[in-house]
Amino acid sequence: MKRAYNFNAGPAALPLEVLQQAQEQFVEYQGAGMSIMEMSHRSALYEQVNNESQALMRELFGIPDNYHVLFLQGGASQQFAMIPMNLLRPGRVGAYVKTGAWADKALKESKFVGETVIAASSENDKYMRMPNVNDFIVPDNAAYLHMTSNETIGGVQFQEFPTNLGNVPLVADMSSDILSRPIDISKFGLIYAGAQKNLGPSGVTVVIVRDDLVQESPKDIPAIFRYDTHAKNSSLYNTPPSFSVYMVNLVLKWIKSNGGVAAMEQINRDKTKLIYDAIDQSNGFYIGCAHPDSRSLMNITFRIQSEELEKQFVKESEQNGFVGLKGHRDVGGLRASTYNAVPHESCKALAEFMADFQRRNG
Ligand SMILES: *Cc1c(COP(=O)(O)O)cnc(C)c1O
Repeated sequence: MKRAYNFNAGPAALPLEVLQQAQEQFVEYQGAGMSIMEMSHRSALYEQVNNESQALMRELFGIPDNYHVLFLQGGASQQFAMIPMNLLRPGRVGAYVKTGAWADKALKESKFVGETVIAASSENDKYMRMPNVNDFIVPDNAAYLHMTSNETIGGVQFQEFPTNLGNVPLVADMSSDILSRPIDISKFGLIYAGAQKNLGPSGVTVVIVRDDLVQESPKDIPAIFRYDTHAKNSSLYNTPPSFSVYMVNLVLKWIKSNGGVAAMEQINRDKTKLIYDAIDQSNGFYIGCAHPDSRSLMNITFRIQSEELEKQFVKESEQNGFVGLKGHRDVGGLRASTYNAVPHESCKALAEFMADFQRRNG
């Protein structure tokens, strides 16, 4: 089999080694006479997967002891609702940084729950440049400040996080860049990420939440939506997405064996440079969408002067083994998603294809 050059935005590429390992263990997991999917989530074998995955997240991401690591369902989209349900009290406001499609969805959901305010917005830059973190306006009665660390559709990424929030907890949607670079977790109150971009398959959402925020979970919302329920039960309150957690476990081990998160960042920088260079050295044939100071290491968005040529680009790329280069349906253009598991080799092939396409059509 020839692996596709997979630039899908999500669900996205997984490391080949991880898929092969899962294949080896698919029918029978560790001599149990059954697959991991067929066993009780209360069994010793599954508990081991659950505990080890939490421990690996802590180790790789440098998560301090006063944080919980939860494996939940409902995607990042459910967190858009759970965050205000758990943290937004009457008399307080949820402060949001409006940076594109995902931040906007998070904001819209919070409005069902309580008062909100926009702490900063890049709408005037058409969401193609992240606002300066020093310019956020966060009211004193903010229950939290919500940021989207990487806007998957626009291809813009924060290069830094605010440090002057005082007691206001920083909440971040890291669905599309978790574990792609080292982060100082102690600056955050809560971090969440759907797994299907940078962590594994769909079906599980990782939530990293500081203990004092868990303690605040109100008692007048259903148990299933409360962080304290899941924290107390070590993510085993109800049946977890066990196969997805198992796959995340394998991905975490893969990251570890490849040098950890700092090594991931270096690999990501090297491989995305190939593609950004192909854009910057094209004499305007390719147009990068994101402002250079906000360029994402995870989603590279670009255009070609004519939409006709963009269509041609997608068509020919597919004929050459590339997948997923069409931009999001809301914004058009082209996008290459270059998550941790996308190999350097795929990015090199794409940069070469871009240069060749330009030679033939420039
Ligand atoms: C994909 C994505 C989401 C939505 O994730 P679901 O798991 O589909 O709910 C939210 N935020 C960001 C930044 C994303 O990239």
